[in-house]
Amino acid sequence: MNPHLPHLIELQALDIKLTASKAQQGKIPALIKAAEGPLQEASLRLTQLTESLEAVNKERRDQERDLEAHEAQIEKLRARLTELKTNKEYQAHLFEIEMANKKKGEIEERILLRMERIEQYQREAQQAQAKKTEAERLSAEEKTRLETQAVELAAELETMTRQHGEVAMLLEKGLLDRYTKLKAARKDLALAPVKNGTCSGCRLQIPPQLVAEVRRSDELQTCTFCHRILYWEGGLGSAKTNSAESLAQAESGLRETV
Ligand SMILES: [Zn+2]
Repeated sequence: MNPHLPHLIELQALDIKLTASKAQQGKIPALIKAAEGPLQEASLRLTQLTESLEAVNKERRDQERDLEAHEAQIEKLRARLTELKTNKEYQAHLFEIEMANKKKGEIEERILLRMERIEQYQREAQQAQAKKTEAERLSAEEKTRLETQAVELAAELETMTRQHGEVAMLLEKGLLDRYTKLKAARKDLALAPVKNGTCSGCRLQIPPQLVAEVRRSDELQTCTFCHRILYWEGGLGSAKTNSAESLAQAESGLRETV
């Protein structure tokens, strides 16, 4: 077997994991921000309700002052009743008092309406406060979870980067450069396993002769079409590669049985 192949395969496996972990790490700030969304919404709702409540309370106070002034006015009118000389004046004055009483009733009605609205807003504000408290709890939990994940990811990335450096050291510079260039040109995959006579990088059928050479793996072989370095999957490398092979075998065995 070509002695470089296991290192190249390991390097690629590390590169794939590094890319995935970096992508995951990149998403964390947005996820933390998104976790605050429901809390901001709940806070806004509570603020709106508090403002509405204050506005209606002010209306109620204004109308109560209005009512007091009106009541004082009615008292004055009543007091003057005794001073009146003629029946005509008396009747006119009574009518004025009746009108004033009617107006007073209208103001009282408006105050009652405001009080009902205040009670309703108070109930809604209570519910909104409970929702906000729950949102605060969930948001804090999610934030902690994501921050822990970020710390774990950073540690993983550090380990993988170190391992990557160690494996890269085992390769000749020329081969490492070739790997790096191929990786950049071929969507991060410089190596591809051969499966069922097909390059799994470009999914094209490769000549049987080449398949046989890849299987022997004395020399590094490249795909005729995409130029990726080819390897025989399962034939080498780590326990992971072996378990992948057994899984693939189990699957093909299943297919054959069916
Ligand atoms: Zn190919």
